Amino acid sequence: MIKNISVALLAVAVLAGCKNSSTTKSAQVTNAGTVPVAKDVHTLSNADSVDMQHLDLDIAVNMDKKQISGNALWTINNKEKVKTLKLDTYDLSIDSVLVDSKKVTYKLDPQIKFLGSALHIPIGATSTAVRIYYHTGADARALQWLDPQQTHDKLHPFLYTQSESIYARSWIPCADGPGIRFTYTARVKVPKGLLALMSASNPQEKNDSGIYHFNMELPIPAYLMALAVGDIAFKAVDERTGVYAEQGVVEKAHWELEGIGDMVNAAEQLYGPYRWGRYDVLVLPPGFPIGGMENPRLTFCTPTILAGDRSLVSLIAHELAHSWSGNLVTNATWDDFWMNEGFTDYFERRITERMLGKSYVDMLWELGYQDLVDQVKDLEKTPKDTWLKLDLKGRDPDDGLTDIPYEKGSHFLELIERTVGRDSFDHFLAKYFNAHAFNTITTEEFLVYLDSNLIHGDTAILNKLQINKWVYGPGIPANCPRAGQERFAKVDSERVRFLNDVPPAKLATSEWTTHEWLQFLRKMPPALSATQMGKLDEAFNFTTTGNSEIADLWFVMSVRAGYSKAYGAMETFLSSVGRRKFLEPLYGEMMKTPKNAPMAKRLYAKYRKNYHPLAQESLDKLMAK
Ligand SMILES: [Zn+2]
Repeated sequence: MIKNISVALLAVAVLAGCKNSSTTKSAQVTNAGTVPVAKDVHTLSNADSVDMQHLDLDIAVNMDKKQISGNALWTINNKEKVKTLKLDTYDLSIDSVLVDSKKVTYKLDPQIKFLGSALHIPIGATSTAVRIYYHTGADARALQWLDPQQTHDKLHPFLYTQSESIYARSWIPCADGPGIRFTYTARVKVPKGLLALMSASNPQEKNDSGIYHFNMELPIPAYLMALAVGDIAFKAVDERTGVYAEQGVVEKAHWELEGIGDMVNAAEQLYGPYRWGRYDVLVLPPGFPIGGMENPRLTFCTPTILAGDRSLVSLIAHELAHSWSGNLVTNATWDDFWMNEGFTDYFERRITERMLGKSYVDMLWELGYQDLVDQVKDLEKTPKDTWLKLDLKGRDPDDGLTDIPYEKGSHFLELIERTVGRDSFDHFLAKYFNAHAFNTITTEEFLVYLDSNLIHGDTAILNKLQINKWVYGPGIPANCPRAGQERFAKVDSERVRFLNDVPPAKLATSEWTTHEWLQFLRKMPPALSATQMGKLDEAFNFTTTGNSEIADLWFVMSVRAGYSKAYGAMETFLSSVGRRKFLEPLYGEMMKTPKNAPMAKRLYAKYRKNYHPLAQESLDKLMAK
């Protein structure tokens, strides 16, 4: 996913003591007890005792009632012969439960904040089939139901899911932990005239029955379960990649994403074969709360990447990279989230470097470093939230969704690369993905694997890396690598010229990409005068830019400078964009002063309904401050 620790100060002991291990199962103690058993505190299930092997899902999607109903048939192996199967649910109504085709009396616990309700099902030692009839509730956190006017084409309703981190349980009764994998099939009935898509083998066109069949024969965790329903069209890019979007968006999306076939090839050259069959991208309606979601075979992405100049497609490189880091090798618990996101940010930049060159990717590294500095400052009062290994016990795993796992994680890996050399690190990573394919890993297991397969206890390397400071220490370690500043140095000198009253039209900006513009604006003094804002706008048309990254930053600057000429466009932006990355800084900037807070409240009251439940939750908190 495109963007906070069980604490065990074990790394030193692990690195000093273990030479011979690789682990493939997160719940195993691998080395004479030196690696702790992963304990996922965010599932109420007992999947450690009962293998959840396969799911056959049979559901109907009612767009009018905004409800999913049907049944989930789980094939299980009661390996520890327990008497009860416990599953995760959130705001699900259970209609009946059958075990081996016989109706049983189940129990649903009272709801625990954000974790939901455990469903207790009596099972026998040899039970293999558990079928649960259920329907979803109005508070299903994974589901966003869009009315036609909230879509691009404004003709048909739309539904999509966002299951990461622990929201799959709000639309499927399941064992909802990243360390629990299963295969699935699904039969999904939708209103005629609409297409259904999942994180599985997918149809490429609508049929007359409105019934679609899906198969995912590779084991995935519940957070990668995904469904989208709408008037969706498909356009192929090459034989294994393509683009899905609303009818009125698909051509534009196809043009913008035409490079995804080359991107998959570039990724394969780095770390080995793409193992999921097809790679398609679904461009969602504007309310999608995040940049992208790496649902296997079908990345879900925000329409804000459709900048018209292919300048924001590195987001796709990120979601594609998850096909290795995250989907193939998965963080065992949400405390190990950097194992998904740090690796993916690193891999994303390696793909981008291969496609667009070193000086280009250096800009991504530098902007990421700036985000990391800002994030560490924001988390000043809770320094443990800046460790790579998180401790989210008793907290919503979404509290861990900061820039730390992404940027501190990727910079740590970049440091390893620079220390051991790129060839050695690439060889190690390819081997790592292969050795742990379709499995999960904890931070501690990774550190053991890193030592056994790359560092080999070399004290000179260990002294250079200072692993504990990265993994179990706060802030940005002193040895954090920095990218080359070749292109940004030129941007910085143009900014100085502007601040010395050189007319904007005379600045050397003709070759700039989105990233140069971001650097140009980010490093402006805290508040420009309305006159300076006006001059920039006149020369560069920031208020009317179609580039959401630049627009968002410009609107934040406009609020700060009281540059009211941008407010109309800002309102349009807030009405149509649902991505938290953009909404939070903008509403947050308005909420900083008594003068602007009423504007934030007015706009939020007006457009809250356009945002996904997850965006609403975080914005409700921000607006209550
Ligand atoms: Zn990600």
